[in-house]
Amino acid sequence: MTYPTTLLPQLIEAVANAIDENAEAVAALDQAIGDGDHVINLQRGLAALLAQREELGLLTWSAAWQKMGMTLMSTVGGASGSLLGTLFLEMAKAAADQALDLKGFAVVFAQGVEAMKRRGKSEAGEKTMLDVLVPVAVYLQSDACTAAEGLTGVQAVAIAGVESTRAMLATKGRAAFLAERSVGHIDAGAKSCQLMICAISAVLSAAPT
Ligand code: ADP
Ligand code: MG
Repeated sequence: MTYPTTLLPQLIEAVANAIDENAEAVAALDQAIGDGDHVINLQRGLAALLAQREELGLLTWSAAWQKMGMTLMSTVGGASGSLLGTLFLEMAKAAADQALDLKGFAVVFAQGVEAMKRRGKSEAGEKTMLDVLVPVAVYLQSDACTAAEGLTGVQAVAIAGVESTRAMLATKGRAAFLAERSVGHIDAGAKSCQLMICAISAVLSAAPT
């Protein structure tokens, strides 16, 4: 089964709600080891995507992700703006004009995450959003992940990824300035990515097959 882009308005609403509902918690995480603006940066980008959501739902995945990437690049700001923008622009390139089922989406997403690594000069293990996105990309491509079963699995993988950042020493982003003092805190970008992934997987799990 392939996913239609008519799901995009609902996906964007679910993501925006998940971030709004957890805004204080995410802000507190970025206040502890960053500069505290992460959730505001994201909310600015999500407000821009909400304004475009109906229009996005009429496009192909590739065209929608291209537009979303440009919007995120120009509205989010901070390190996360260029990284999330890169994710969507690369997914647009990778998707071309294909219809996407879960496995097709997994390949495209993994390519997007690789582009983020190049953009951020970073890898998983450095206490960033990649500690959620990389394991999720691996899981989505694994045999364990199927449309019927795997989308609850993806939530568990994302939550484990967030928790893994607690013990890590930050070596990228603003938290790296704190060195050892970053240990013991969860990364804000990892948390926001987990919230967005859980919101997306909940919508896709409920989508008619
Ligand atoms: P800024 O750090 O510029 O204020 P944000 O607060 O919006 O930007 O985003 C911070 C988040 O960005 C961090 O919590 C981390 O997850 C992520 N991040 C920062 N630098 C990198 C990097 N080089 N690679 C991957 N993720 C990064
Ligand atoms: Mg910040």
